[in-house]
Amino acid sequence: MNYIVAIKGAHHSKAGVRHVDKLVRGDNIINFKGVTKSYLMGTTRVDALKGIDLKVERGDAIAIMGPSGSGKTTLLSILGCMLTPTEGTVHVCGHSTAAAGPEDLALLRREHVGFVFQSFHLFPTLSATDNVRLALDVRGEPSRRARARSREALAKVGLPHKTSAFPRELSGGEQQRVAIARAIVGNPSIILADEPTAALDGENGQAIMKILAGIAREKERAVLIVTHDPRLLPFADRVIHIEDGRIVREERRGDKLQ
Ligand code: ADP
Repeated sequence: MNYIVAIKGAHHSKAGVRHVDKLVRGDNIINFKGVTKSYLMGTTRVDALKGIDLKVERGDAIAIMGPSGSGKTTLLSILGCMLTPTEGTVHVCGHSTAAAGPEDLALLRREHVGFVFQSFHLFPTLSATDNVRLALDVRGEPSRRARARSREALAKVGLPHKTSAFPRELSGGEQQRVAIARAIVGNPSIILADEPTAALDGENGQAIMKILAGIAREKERAVLIVTHDPRLLPFADRVIHIEDGRIVREERRGDKLQ
């Protein structure tokens, strides 16, 4: 298998991408050094991230907290290979993304990142299995195998009996479980969740957090969750507080959820 390494400073075209046979992987699945991100609004510059250093290891369950406008979505977008930083270096699963072009970023996303959204983003006319399968269809996985893997993922999130159900036949908590199954079915190393429990009541929210923390603990994955809900924090083993584009505090817990 070839790994794709984007060379910082090179053009974003294919010329800027080199295929190498081997990649030296460190322990860190994510490594941010001095990451800044600025947006231009007309002639005004908005500095959304002002120098983020962040290392994430496999197995980390991380909650990201901060007030509105503090840079959480921007951080999640760079983590998820949807945006590149203005300055600094970003490594995701050993790949440098700071100078990657859109096609390379899309490949990295497909290969390494699963997303969970606040509003589930399920297709109403597809069954739970078919919603999960979409993540494999885009990778060209053969149909029968894709269906089997999708059912496995649904069983993993506690929905083995709902594989044929349509979203309207599922509760909010169950729909979010389907969305998590879709995020994990392709076996990505990183799961990113943006307010995944915001549309759920407390009990369902906690169940979802428990599932996400369990997924992180499978060692091969890192789970990063943006949340406003302090009741969910016990489920994270690292809580990162972000304010005005900076990480201002981090709490680490030794007592991981069982
Ligand atoms: P949060 O998710 O914590 O609310 P964001 O990352 O969305 O924070 O935003 C951080 C800052 O960057 C805010 O001041 C926001 O207005 C600004 N911002 C975010 N996205 C854009 C954009 N596409 N264009 C211009 N400014 C943006």
